[in-house]
Amino acid sequence: MKNFMMVTLFIIVLIIIQNCGGEVNGNADLVLLNGNIATIDENNPNAEAIAVKDGKILAVGFEDEIEKYISDSTEVIDLNGKFVTPGFIDSHAHFLGLGRSLINLDLQKAKNWNEVVSIIAKDAKNRKPGEWIVGRGWHQEKFDPAPEPNVNGYPLHDELSKVTPNNPVLLSHASGHAILANAKAMRLAGVNKNTPDPKGGTIVRNEKGIPIGVFEENAEKFITKIYDEYLAKRTQEQIRADYVKEIQLASDECLKKGVTSFHDAGETFEIIDLLKQLADSNKLSIRLNVMIGDTFEKMKSKLASYRMLGYGNGFLTVRSIKQYIDGALGSRGAWLLEPYSDLKDHLGSNVTTIEELKKISELAIANNFQMRIHAIGDRGNREVLNIYEDIFKRNPDKKDLRWCIEHAQHLAAEDIPRFAKLGVVAAMQAVHCTSDMSFVDERLGNKRAEEGAYVWKKLIDSGAIVCNGTDAPVEDVDPIKCFYSAVTRKDADGKVFYSDQKMSRMDALKSYTIHGAYASFEENIKGSIATGKFADIVVLSNDLLNCTDDEIRKVIVLYTIVGGKIKYKAN
Ligand SMILES: [Zn+2]
Repeated sequence: MKNFMMVTLFIIVLIIIQNCGGEVNGNADLVLLNGNIATIDENNPNAEAIAVKDGKILAVGFEDEIEKYISDSTEVIDLNGKFVTPGFIDSHAHFLGLGRSLINLDLQKAKNWNEVVSIIAKDAKNRKPGEWIVGRGWHQEKFDPAPEPNVNGYPLHDELSKVTPNNPVLLSHASGHAILANAKAMRLAGVNKNTPDPKGGTIVRNEKGIPIGVFEENAEKFITKIYDEYLAKRTQEQIRADYVKEIQLASDECLKKGVTSFHDAGETFEIIDLLKQLADSNKLSIRLNVMIGDTFEKMKSKLASYRMLGYGNGFLTVRSIKQYIDGALGSRGAWLLEPYSDLKDHLGSNVTTIEELKKISELAIANNFQMRIHAIGDRGNREVLNIYEDIFKRNPDKKDLRWCIEHAQHLAAEDIPRFAKLGVVAAMQAVHCTSDMSFVDERLGNKRAEEGAYVWKKLIDSGAIVCNGTDAPVEDVDPIKCFYSAVTRKDADGKVFYSDQKMSRMDALKSYTIHGAYASFEENIKGSIATGKFADIVVLSNDLLNCTDDEIRKVIVLYTIVGGKIKYKAN
């Protein structure tokens, strides 16, 4: 009997050993060979091959180390020496907004105001009376020739209104911080000469006080409210179908551009519910870290039950709150310490009061949520740093909070070291710098621009974590374009914006991978190519760390792999 037990035990041990051996050899689902792999893993920086199993990285190393994981059922891809990085993480963009922008009229490429008017005129011909026409991406500073007549450089609605007598029109500014409406939309909104400016917003007017059609910051609500009412008339099924379509379009756009994770900068509970349902049925194609952007009352009752870490196999995380302290620089909404250099006595807008932001921050810290407050101007950034510093001090038991400032675009010199000191993450968008540089010096003057505008290098040197993104649909969601901006600070005309603030290639790659993962507390599961992490991988046509600056712009995505599945492949 004893012998029998010994033999049984021996057999069991043998089976276990064999199975363990099986785990190690010959059972990868996917193997990538012959790559030039930047792992962003400091312990193992360079590799040639990757083995993937069950959506995760099984091994990374040299070819002879990885080949042993290949079996008959393994898909093997020869990368021909192509460059491989962890999947890109866009750390600040708007997921549904990106999807919607792919549905709405794109005005980004319109050369001037006349061209915008003719795009809308053409579209209006196919519309029923009363149907809204929505577009986005116009920017008066980029119009050639400049609009004439104009107010503060903005075009007037009159030409647009002539071609759209029966349809309300809403055209969002490229910055997302102003809109332009036609006469029909203003009539529906009841806006006229006598309508006062709301708090934190401006109805732009001509010298007679008549609205020209442009609504800045909180004044946008006059028009968006009416548009939202129009949208609210859709049936529940139609609303849901529209959201799902937007999510689908945004996902496809991201995958095409190598984005495998996305920090979604503010969605309502309603949208989060929908995303959760999609995650439940494995219908999310990229990983989302969704910041909650909803009313205080709703957050107060729902926050605790909405905290989600890597829900649905790592596709949905909810652990942060999005708020705004100011507007954008282009529309002069950024809140500055000293007046704008190109608008006398104007300091910009404080769009959410300090008291309100403090109240929301208290709610966040009590529920283990991060705050992620939008701050563009130096005053906006200082106030947010003050709010964070104060609340951290009053909660000494809470550590490693990683609260973020979204954009951190323009900083007073003395506030730069406070990010590292407080452990505040700067969630910046390199591409904003090169898109906006033509007017930054005008708005801020050279001294302020040099000292504190888009100073990601100063922040990195001071020890702060800088993550990167595009703020899509404000910009193209393309990480390659943004990477180019980060390392060159060069605009489309080849002009350079304060070159001493260029990021190194490696810092730029980290800002788009591991530092984005850090900002959502996910650096242990993604952001680098290392054993045990999600197999989120991008294969590119050229080496981002070593090609020339000009070559960066020609880099294309060859493969986008999320959770070990090839979700995009270039033709
Ligand atoms: Zn944003």
